[in-house]
Amino acid sequence: MPTAKSDAFVFFGATGDLAYKQIFPALQALTRDGKLDMPVIGIARSGWKVAQLRKRAEDSLREHGGVDKAAFAKLSGQMQYLDGDYNDAQTYDKLRKALGDAQHPLHYLAIPPSMFVPVVKGLAASGCSQGARVIVEKPFGRDLKSAQALNRTLHRFFREHDIFRIDHYLGKEPVQNLLYFRFANAFLEPIWNRDNIASMQITMAENFGVQGRGKFYDEVGALRDVVQNHMFQVLALLAMDPPANRSADAMRDEKLRLFRSMRPLQPGDIVRGQFDGYLKEAGVAKKSTVETFAALRIHMDTWRWAGVPFFIRAGKQLPVKCTEVLVRLKNPPQQVFDSPDQGAVNFFRFRLSPNVVISLGARVKAPGEAMKGHPVELVAHRDVREAMAPYERLLGDAIDGDSALFTRDDCVEEAWRVLDPILGDKVPAHKYKPGSWGPKEANALIDGAGGWNDPRIEPAPKDGK
Ligand code: NDP
Repeated sequence: MPTAKSDAFVFFGATGDLAYKQIFPALQALTRDGKLDMPVIGIARSGWKVAQLRKRAEDSLREHGGVDKAAFAKLSGQMQYLDGDYNDAQTYDKLRKALGDAQHPLHYLAIPPSMFVPVVKGLAASGCSQGARVIVEKPFGRDLKSAQALNRTLHRFFREHDIFRIDHYLGKEPVQNLLYFRFANAFLEPIWNRDNIASMQITMAENFGVQGRGKFYDEVGALRDVVQNHMFQVLALLAMDPPANRSADAMRDEKLRLFRSMRPLQPGDIVRGQFDGYLKEAGVAKKSTVETFAALRIHMDTWRWAGVPFFIRAGKQLPVKCTEVLVRLKNPPQQVFDSPDQGAVNFFRFRLSPNVVISLGARVKAPGEAMKGHPVELVAHRDVREAMAPYERLLGDAIDGDSALFTRDDCVEEAWRVLDPILGDKVPAHKYKPGSWGPKEANALIDGAGGWNDPRIEPAPKDGK
């Protein structure tokens, strides 16, 4: 298995939206930290020269994090721009020349999914895939069949350990922290099972709509955009068994076992929603039934989790922007003190955004004669910083050939297997009002498990912590 560092960074989609918002800032940070000492070759068909690519990079940095003069000067010096259509064989001949004597180029496909296969084939036919790694952006397929087909094509030209399927959620500091908290502490494991845990739920709420990306979103919807990838990855970190070690495959083997234990979803396990006004968004089909909201109930057939329901809820135009996990523990078997209708007495809260919180819910006695109490939250960790941007972490890892934070072929296919039966219009998309918590039908899904936890965003404390 080659662990050699990549020696050229080839950047398909250099003129695109993702490049502007995420990739240039990551490239500047990697350059600043001495991790990107190599040619950076942008390829698109905009008819640009390298000066325009540099200008685009500078504009991107001004808007997203700021220009670091020294790092940007170095990055600019390493940049090249190749103009060409991805369907044209000559584009790859030009790239082969530009790569010179690079032995391990890293090809980053930050391009529309319809272009993944032509580019991979072009790289192979021109010899650019030799000794190379490839990063594939999301979404990886639209369903099980298309994901399997894409995997087959990739495997014709690249070995699995040279393929890096990106899910930027895995590069996020709070997601890393979730993994760390679970397996760096001994006290969780004895209670992390069906004997003590009543349910788990993950809410990914966005308080905005499709933000001008209606055409893209209308081909995808919430299930494909964030559930099959981001939410399932968070679920895996919450529920998987401890990995044998830190290696990429040990981690991914456990995720795979977990995904395999998940029952394929049935229509009764899902509620879809669409916010009022979605059909008026530019690029959205007039009669679109695509979901902007999805709520799911998931069952896992394992000794650890049999009978414990897992819930996922993701939606646009909800009241807040927040991603939060709530793990409800079973209540004490006997209510010695307070009245029994208090919901979950004990819980773990993992807030992943906009700030990071890990806390444990408990009850303490209120001062006074009566044995009455109130809920408190013991905060283990609270932070507002994202120490390292996800794309910086992930691109750096791919350059080093470390695939621990990337999705493996079998994991991605298993995740699609779970979702496949309910994709499309199998269940209706109920309308909901922007600013609400989605269609009321979603409540019935979780009523028996204490209801949804609607995250509340507190004002940031004055000390910035
Ligand atoms: P854009 O449509 O903004 O950019 C597409 C890029 O691909 C452009 O650089 C375009 O070049 C190039 N391109 C497309 N077709 C060709 C072709 N035939 N020949 C040459 N160049 C071509 O897409 P995004 O940046 O939004 O998305 C890229 C990928 O990243 C997608 O897979 C998307 O799902 C994923 N992604 C995007 C996110 C975002 O916020 N934008 C978030 C997460 C993932 P040109 O401009 O010259 O036409």
